[in-house]
Amino acid sequence: MTARRDRKQYFKEYRAANRERRRVSNIAYQAANADRLRAYKAGWYAANKEHHDRTVAAWREANREQRKEYCRLFHSARRRNKNKDKLTVGIIDLLLLEQNDTCPYCFRELSETGFHIDHYMPLALGGKNVDDNVQLTCPTCNMRKGKKHPMVFLNEVFRSLQGSIACP
Ligand SMILES: [Zn+2]
Repeated sequence: MTARRDRKQYFKEYRAANRERRRVSNIAYQAANADRLRAYKAGWYAANKEHHDRTVAAWREANREQRKEYCRLFHSARRRNKNKDKLTVGIIDLLLLEQNDTCPYCFRELSETGFHIDHYMPLALGGKNVDDNVQLTCPTCNMRKGKKHPMVFLNEVFRSLQGSIACP
């Protein structure tokens, strides 16, 4: 009896002392097992659908006002982000003009290669979908750049050019 209580206390203290480490390792675990977790959740939901829906409905009923407030906050945040996260109509024509029809990485003509809209700082690294963060690149460069940080990719480009450009 006492041993069990001691163990409980021990785990409680351990968790409190390692909260940040656990949070980070949880995030890593979830990222590494995203597919499995999704399948597990879907399976759980299928098996407990009625119970889940009943619980949610009861919660909604009991927290009607609070829920209204949540919805309001959620939608206004979404609206705000949408306005912030938006490209100007006609940005492509503008970029073609600004970039002189040229891929900034390989200098090929975009009207010949075709082009992709490239997020200079990738969305995956926190870049935004706004005019200041987009440029046109040829499809090959865009695919090679992928989710890399722009400086990392530029480094690769320079490395591949090494020897072919003379120092000034
Ligand atoms: Zn290119």
